[in-house]
Amino acid sequence: MKNTVTLNDRTFKVMIPAEEIDRAVSAVAEQINRDYADKQTPLFLGVLNGSFMFMSDLMKKIDFNCELSFVKLASYEGTCSTGEVSCLIGLNNEIRGRHVIVVEDIVDTGRSIAHMLEELKKHNAASVEVCTLFFKPASYSQPYPIRYRAMEIGNEFIVGYGLDYDQLGRNLKDVYVVTE
Ligand code: 5GP
Ligand code: MG
Repeated sequence: MKNTVTLNDRTFKVMIPAEEIDRAVSAVAEQINRDYADKQTPLFLGVLNGSFMFMSDLMKKIDFNCELSFVKLASYEGTCSTGEVSCLIGLNNEIRGRHVIVVEDIVDTGRSIAHMLEELKKHNAASVEVCTLFFKPASYSQPYPIRYRAMEIGNEFIVGYGLDYDQLGRNLKDVYVVTE
């Protein structure tokens, strides 16, 4: 593991080693395994790009039959309907009546996940819960409960394990925090 990495103009130092991430992913997978044991084929819906690595490791620890898919949330002005709206791109599974677990890399203010949940509401799922790798409790200001949180952090900016800085750093297996 490198102690520091440089991505464009910023330097980051190691904050959470891969082993610690793995333990947190196992713990949250255990919770989900318990809660969904008797549910009919739940659907894991990863939000791209950030969730790809978390999704991959999480799925290996899920012990019930399930489906998985990825979506992207994009903001457009006036293209989906009118005004500033967000569109869910890539939602091609039938959602109606399904138990959906939205898989996110990080929930900060919660604005993105709120948009996502609003969009999903239109599809009449049987249930929708959120599973995020990182949660920033001091920053979160939305009414939606975030049921599964692998790790809670402060308001620092992190990269690695799917999370980027200017699209760089997603491939790092450890998580790094920005230095001043
Ligand atoms: P929110 O809408 O919850 O405020 O923020 C969601 C998005 O902001 C995340 O999906 C992510 O793209 C970005 N974000 C928030 N905090 C961080 C962070 O610490 N590191 C990185 N790389 N992205 C972050
Ligand atoms: Mg995200």
